Amino acid sequence: MDIIELVTAFFTTDARTLLSVLFLGNFVTAMVIVVYRVTVLDDVDLRRTTYYIIAKLVQGIGYFCLFSRGALPEIMSVNIGNTFLIASFGFEAVATMVIVHEQNKKIYVIELALVLIAILGFNITEFILPDPAVRVVTASAGVCLVLLVPTAVQLFAKKKTIFMRLAGVFYASLIVLMALRGINAMEGETSVHANVYIQTLTFTMLVVLMLASSSGYLLLMKENADRAISKLASTDGLTGITNRRSFLVAAEIIFTSHQSLQEPISILFFDIDNFKKVNDSYGHAFGDKVLIALAEVLKTSLRTQDISCRYGGEEFVVLLAYSNIDSTKKVCERLVERISEIRFPEMPDFRFTVSCGVANGVPNLEDGLMMYIDNADKGLYSAKNTGKNRTVYFYNNRLTSTPI
Ligand code: GH3
Ligand code: MG
Ligand code: MG
Repeated sequence: MDIIELVTAFFTTDARTLLSVLFLGNFVTAMVIVVYRVTVLDDVDLRRTTYYIIAKLVQGIGYFCLFSRGALPEIMSVNIGNTFLIASFGFEAVATMVIVHEQNKKIYVIELALVLIAILGFNITEFILPDPAVRVVTASAGVCLVLLVPTAVQLFAKKKTIFMRLAGVFYASLIVLMALRGINAMEGETSVHANVYIQTLTFTMLVVLMLASSSGYLLLMKENADRAISKLASTDGLTGITNRRSFLVAAEIIFTSHQSLQEPISILFFDIDNFKKVNDSYGHAFGDKVLIALAEVLKTSLRTQDISCRYGGEEFVVLLAYSNIDSTKKVCERLVERISEIRFPEMPDFRFTVSCGVANGVPNLEDGLMMYIDNADKGLYSAKNTGKNRTVYFYNNRLTSTPI
């Protein structure tokens, strides 16, 4: 077989064979995602797959109808087949936009309108002028129309991944091929089973798009699931702020950069005073509320370059980046003040205090993050031993309760 024969074979792949690959492929994709949905634990993103499953089933039925042209009644193979196909491309577009969290409602409305126009346009034309060539033109135009929105979103929207841009290029080339197929059909009689090179090329492209779409969709789902898992692994279940493990990873990076730039850094170690009594007097559930409220203060009171975490039971650690002893003192006082202002409607008279140990300095090359955390802990220990409800500073390797 020489190269010419090879190229000819590519351009003359049997249209019916390609259609069978298309309907089987879409059914299999729908099945894979259904199985994934029932085996993987339920979560919000998983529920979003409904759109995609419907799109694939409807698309599979649509292609099956086109494949069975001649064997099925015309109304099924022509009207139902093309209606389902046009609708399924709309559904697929919506499913993809939903999974990437496209928020703009207008886009969904426009897409829905285009799907309706395309379906009505096809069926009305088919009713007035039932001709195979016209049919190819209107079906192609309909698919072009519903692909416009997802193509534009994927190509031009901000904050999209390279992967999505690639999908946009796929969609755009499919629109071009669909348009060429329509124009080609206008020039001579053609049908959905005709082995015309432009039709073969379009169907081949549809097979490629189907493969790219299903594997791409599964990758998007996995990307979402990974993000959710990593968020779960790095936050504290009760308070929603960073947990100790994840804090230490981030803090180590910040600490090293301060070490090489010779910038001042602070570690603040908070511990709620007499927390056991809080639990004993008001119950564990109320104790939890106190922890949540304290975490909320940390979440909303720090600059973006500072980080905080729940270090243990009722202990919270904060890292203040680029912070000398004066600004550290200000931040610490502000935090203690905000914590002291926390109130609970169900327990209006309830008050609680915290003790705090602070380590501040410009880290030497031999200093480590843990040394700063240990020093802050020593400060905290000293604060607890000298009456609680106070802050003890550990500055230049020296403990001081009346800071500089
Ligand atoms: P001190 O002023 O010396 O810190 O006294 P304290 O009572 O706070 O002493 P300690 O730090 O030993 O007690 C911590 C308590 O925090 C013990 C534990 O029951 C409680 N605790 C730890 N984790 C949780 C939690 O997730 N929820 C609640 N409600 N309590 C917790
Ligand atoms: Mg305590
Ligand atoms: Mg404690």
